[in-house]
Amino acid sequence: MPLGLYISVPFCRTKCSYCNFASDVFSKSAYENYVARLLEDIAGARQLASELGCTLDDSADSIYLGGGTPSILDASQLLRIFAALHGQFAVTPDAEVTVECAPGTLTPALIGTLLECGVNRVSLGVQSFVDQEAQSVGRLHKRSTVLEEIDRLRKAGLANLNIDLIAGLPHQTAESWAFSVSETIAAGVPHVSVYMLEVDDDSRLGRELIAGGSRYHAHFVPDDDATADFYQQACEMLTAVGIVQYEISNFARAASPAQNNESRHNLKYWTRQPYVGFGVDAHSFLAADHHQAIRFAAPESLEAYMNRAPHTVMPVSAQAAIEESFFLGLRLNRGIDLECLRKEFSVDAIAAWDSAIHQCLHDGLLEHKGTILRLTARGRLLSNEVFAGFLNEERKVGTGHVNPR
Ligand code: SF4
Repeated sequence: MPLGLYISVPFCRTKCSYCNFASDVFSKSAYENYVARLLEDIAGARQLASELGCTLDDSADSIYLGGGTPSILDASQLLRIFAALHGQFAVTPDAEVTVECAPGTLTPALIGTLLECGVNRVSLGVQSFVDQEAQSVGRLHKRSTVLEEIDRLRKAGLANLNIDLIAGLPHQTAESWAFSVSETIAAGVPHVSVYMLEVDDDSRLGRELIAGGSRYHAHFVPDDDATADFYQQACEMLTAVGIVQYEISNFARAASPAQNNESRHNLKYWTRQPYVGFGVDAHSFLAADHHQAIRFAAPESLEAYMNRAPHTVMPVSAQAAIEESFFLGLRLNRGIDLECLRKEFSVDAIAAWDSAIHQCLHDGLLEHKGTILRLTARGRLLSNEVFAGFLNEERKVGTGHVNPR
């Protein structure tokens, strides 16, 4: 099965206050060393897979440069990364090739480089079309810049665009949020991601909120109920114009069967298809000789990665594979087919989850149609609760969330 290839670029121009990713502001001199290290990793992918007893396909049908801000790299660095990927993998002619870009960086020169690299999809970390909101969390762009850059991308032939939005930013109101969603719709992009602000101690804003302080505009952050309402409002506004939800945070404009606007790369995460990641905190999932599969992850810090600290390796047992099939598959609006799971893992193995399923059906978090099980609208809002019910105690962490950048 063709792979998804992920490259992590952990550099940003500034650190957004809500950001809980392994990314930071580094001097440009760090970029070159990092790219050299990435190229080594890409060249060594087959050896690592063989040492771990994994199967690494020769072909790849998706490439995703995320981070961080991959568009911060210069042309030569981007070109060398893509050349290395093409040198190691047979990238299919129809591959989806995405680069995450910070609005305000999409110069004609950068767009030219992206095209030269074979990029055919750009994901824009807009988060809000209200300048005050974007600036309050450290974003450097303005609404007008985003619109100009979308126009520039389209004129250059890059029309397959995603816009990321975050519900729950400081200063956001129902009206300002409706404005951001309306602007996104008016921009005519085929894909939209809507995330709710994550409050945890991995971000400066999250820590301030937990402490009850007012730095980083924390006292202007809407409460949880308002944020949940914003998310619901976005679901309704996007659906009304044919931008259909297909995953908890992801929406795609309905397209012809020949042109599917859903993110092929991200679908690999939720449907447990193989992918391999390179760079800081990059995760991989591959079929393995002696286990159902193996997950492995590169070090979370730039220093550890540059010092060649070993990957964290997590063999996926049969039990864990079933759990993953539930909590990843249920993220998708199409849900999971219990009959397919019974065929894959056995009737008895799946029966062990009957009580978790019945509890969620009883609580109105799941619905059951024929053999299909899927989240209700309420279940999507409370998805972490649902997923926790499908995990045994040791695994109630890391439910495969694909985060905003
Ligand atoms: S949210 Fe994105 S752009 Fe902002 S610091 Fe994090 S990775 Fe960088």
